Order: sequence, then structure tokens, then C-alpha cells
Amino acid sequence: MSNPCIICVAITGSLPTKANNPAVPITVSEQVESTHEAFEAGATIVHAHVRNDDQTPSSDPEKFARLKEGLQKHCPGMIIQFSTGGRSGAGQTRGGMLPLRPDMASLSVGSNNFPTRVYENPPDLVEWLASEMLAYGVKPEIEAFDLSHILKAKEMADRGLLAGTPYVQFVMGVKNAMPVDRDVFDYYIHTVQRLFGKDAPWCAAGIGQNQLTLNEWAIAAGGHARTGLEDNVRLDRDRLAPSNAALVRRVVEICERNSRPVATWQEARRILVLPQPVDAHEGAAA
Ligand SMILES: [Zn+2]
Repeated sequence: MSNPCIICVAITGSLPTKANNPAVPITVSEQVESTHEAFEAGATIVHAHVRNDDQTPSSDPEKFARLKEGLQKHCPGMIIQFSTGGRSGAGQTRGGMLPLRPDMASLSVGSNNFPTRVYENPPDLVEWLASEMLAYGVKPEIEAFDLSHILKAKEMADRGLLAGTPYVQFVMGVKNAMPVDRDVFDYYIHTVQRLFGKDAPWCAAGIGQNQLTLNEWAIAAGGHARTGLEDNVRLDRDRLAPSNAALVRRVVEICERNSRPVATWQEARRILVLPQPVDAHEGAAA
């Protein structure tokens, strides 16, 4: 199999703090530095949330703007994906950074349970977020916490609410949502290929110790992989991950074992049908 694997690094998230792992990047400058190291290790998508100085989640567009500027300067060509997830704010504040035109943004298209609460994604908010992404040329990554979310993406694409082929990420191992289940995983792939075509790209993320399992499953099955401290702060039971880059290197090793080349940012942009920036050149990140 020679299909290159896109590695996404979810650097910060909205939950882990320095008390969980001192390597979690919190300030914008820490985020840029951590992403740069992960980019050099092989990640080509950065999935980012922003934080307040006290580490609580933020949805401040000004912080997102500073992050985007730093990432473009230090990681030229890397695909920038902002989170519109629900922990950092309510309602339309979740999409307040979309006018900054990041390459991508995460989009949850349905509700489900999270460990201690309901992850609320009401239909009117989902449609508003999707229409903002269309208006600003932001490619959504559909976060599938459930099978119905993949079918919802198809329905939205058919209505013209999503541009191009939806890029679906299967999220498994969130407590009270979809557990890590191989049959379901295989059926997710089957469903994406049935609805969006045999060659439709997809990726997968596992939470906590499930991160490694989902990386292995996705890479072996021809999908793309997500890693990073947002989803998991440990290398194994006894060791904290020293950095986002260390988790990326672990994914690169799985790619090697499966004869999957790691996608360059140019390949990742081609696979995801994203524009190739004219001011970023190969090697410019050195
Ligand atoms: Zn996230």
C-alpha cells in the first residue's frame, strides 16, 4: 500500500492541563513551539483549541488569530484546523474564529454523551457552523462520535451544506459515547466508502490508551491518523508523553511497519483538496 498517511496532531484540546502533563502547550507561544516540533516529526495537520492564561478553555478569536499567525510563520504549509467543539463556549461563539479562514475546522453534526455531560450539537447550530465554513472557505472535518453522524454528513453534503467530499474522523473511546469496537470501526469504513466513494479519505482518533489502538487500526486499513496530547497524555501506563512530537513519532513508526509513507504537507493538501499556499516552500520550515 503506497497511499500516504496524513498525521494530525491535536496539540492542546480543552481538558488536559499542566497538572496532567507539563508538556501540554497552553500559551500561544507554547502552542507554536510544540506544533513546530510535531511538524518536523511528520504531522501535517494541527488541530487546535486555545486557552486562557489560567488554562481554562477559550474561544477568543484574537487568540486564534495570534496562533494562526505564529503557525503560518513557523510551520509553513502545515494544515491549520481550529476546533469548533463545545467545551470552549456555547452556541455561535464556537464558530467565532471561522472568519479567520483557517484551512479546516472540526464540525460535530450531532449530539451524544460525554463522560459527565451531554455534548450538545443542535441542528440549527450545526447548520450555522457549516454555512459559516462554506462562506469563509473552511473545510470541515466531520467528527463522527456515532454512525448517525456519518449519515448526517451525507445528508448535509447532498443539500450543498458541505463543499466537496466530507472528510470524516471516527472518534472512539470517549466514555459514554462510542467505545473502541472493531466491528463498528470496520462498518464506519464501509459506510464512508459506500456513501462517499471507495477512495474517500477518512481518519480516526482514539482517546486515552485507545489512541495507539486507533492509530494502528487506521494506518493498517488505509486511513489517516490523529494523535496528540488533547486525546492522550501518556506513552504508556507508566510514562507521560514528553511532547506532542513524541506521540507523532510513535505514529510514524506504525506507518513504517505498515509500509505507509508519511504524507508531506503538499500530499496532505492534495488528498484533502486544499489549496497549496504559494508562499510556503518545501524546506522553509527548517
Ligand atoms: Zn479538539
